[in-house]
Amino acid sequence: MNKAVSAISAIAGTAILCLGASAGTPTITSKPFGNLPDGRATTLYTLTNSDGMQVSITNFGGIVTSIKTPDRKGNLGDVVLGYDRVDNYAKGLGGTYFGALIGRYANRIARGKFTLDGKTYHLAINNPPNTLHGGKIGFDKKLWTAKEINDRNSVGLDLTYFSKDGEENFPGNLNVHVIYTLTNNGSLKIDYSAVTDKDTVINLTNHSYFNLNGAGNGTILGQKLIIFSDAITPIDATSIPTGGLESVTGTPFDFRSPTEIGKRIDQNDPQLKNGHGYDHNFVLRPHGNSLALAAIAYSPETGRVLSEYTTQPGVQLYTGNFLDGTITGKYGRKYPKHAAFCLETQHFPDSPNRPSFPTTELKPGEVYSEHTVYRFTTR
Ligand code: BGC
Repeated sequence: MNKAVSAISAIAGTAILCLGASAGTPTITSKPFGNLPDGRATTLYTLTNSDGMQVSITNFGGIVTSIKTPDRKGNLGDVVLGYDRVDNYAKGLGGTYFGALIGRYANRIARGKFTLDGKTYHLAINNPPNTLHGGKIGFDKKLWTAKEINDRNSVGLDLTYFSKDGEENFPGNLNVHVIYTLTNNGSLKIDYSAVTDKDTVINLTNHSYFNLNGAGNGTILGQKLIIFSDAITPIDATSIPTGGLESVTGTPFDFRSPTEIGKRIDQNDPQLKNGHGYDHNFVLRPHGNSLALAAIAYSPETGRVLSEYTTQPGVQLYTGNFLDGTITGKYGRKYPKHAAFCLETQHFPDSPNRPSFPTTELKPGEVYSEHTVYRFTTR
């Protein structure tokens, strides 16, 4: 972004929209991203908007491998953790799910078990004693069919995946469709939809790890966060919701006004202990099926602002508690504990076992449809 544009955008966030449109034509390019261990080739797609913001996505796991967005001085920086080769993603080191599409069920299902229409389904226990992020081989490790979209005002990637009846023991043939769109106003939109031929459960999300100072530039503890949420779904020591809602008032989970992520993370709080830091589902205020502002993150250092909108009822704040500096990512950078935060928009964890939570059931004839937007601006 040039100086004039960034100055104007600082004054009026919308001005950039019209100015940006004349700055350049959005493009999408693709190149090989290496082969999977079984020999299948993967592709890396790079979307560039009219301001030069760039998002790279691979058809392996629908993984967002990089988001390059300007800081307040206009310098582009990559704000998501990840790797520069597909084989590192395929290895799934440390169970991080960097940038991936998560399904068929994001987050945990207690003890890998749920009952639907009187039948009990048993899933892989890949995060003992529970199932995490879809089981052994979730949507994050599948090769998706990709189609480029280029319609002048935005560029996108259309991804589809067919999950067979019984895959990871979930019922129903599921046709999944995810469209990533990069708009000229700095938004990365994710549109999820799916249909099934048998009653099933579904919970899709994207697992991007953000560091608004740049991936691999220290921790996110000094970055500020607002979450538009009055309650969390508290968890037990295995990170399974205990069933009720817990008000954030007077707790380290109150992010209703801008607060440094690290300010209270080490407090002696039973919920922080259970999550080893923040690893909790925040209940968003009722917003029906419309897109609502869920969270805003801000880096005082770089001026980057991430605003997240979603149609989903919850968002998982995960602060990279299990990163420990052993993973080397892009640009040869190591990722220490709290190197990033995730804001995974979702239905509540373990909903199939919690009738009081918003339902995650999908029936034949219904269309699962959720939307999330990550909007990048500067301040
Ligand atoms: C979970 C964490 C997990 C992380 C990476 C998050 O969604 O809540 O417990 O460590 O994903 O797998």
